[in-house]
Amino acid sequence: MSELRELYQELILDHSKKPRNFRVLEKATHKSEGYNPLCGDRITVYLQIEGDTIRDVGFQGSGCAISKASTSMMTECVKGKTLAEVQDVLRQFKVMMLEGADPTPALGDLEALQGVRKFPVRVKCATLAWNVLEDILESNSRGVR
Ligand code: ZN
Repeated sequence: MSELRELYQELILDHSKKPRNFRVLEKATHKSEGYNPLCGDRITVYLQIEGDTIRDVGFQGSGCAISKASTSMMTECVKGKTLAEVQDVLRQFKVMMLEGADPTPALGDLEALQGVRKFPVRVKCATLAWNVLEDILESNSRGVR
């Protein structure tokens, strides 16, 4: 169990030190910002949505290791997925983080973030990127209608 915890910590550390997709997305079709006043995390998420697929994703911002790692993992997770698939992962991630449910296979590496639940104040750091993603998906679906 402690080995597993170490592996999780390494994964989070790796993503926070070398965030994936950390760039402004020139071809972005959607962009939204999020701010977590409890910790000072501030991020901007860029998505390139084509039809019902997320073609590309990027983010910028500054914040703690948890928020950076969670955002980095989120971008890796959603790239290439359909909007329906992303909605699904988003829901499962929130249920894991906010309701304490066991991680599902669809969450993959995101499972590593479940340890954050032990620190309620940091849960907002871990869910920030996902709330921004949710904003974008909602505005996108409103636009389509
Ligand atoms: Zn934070």
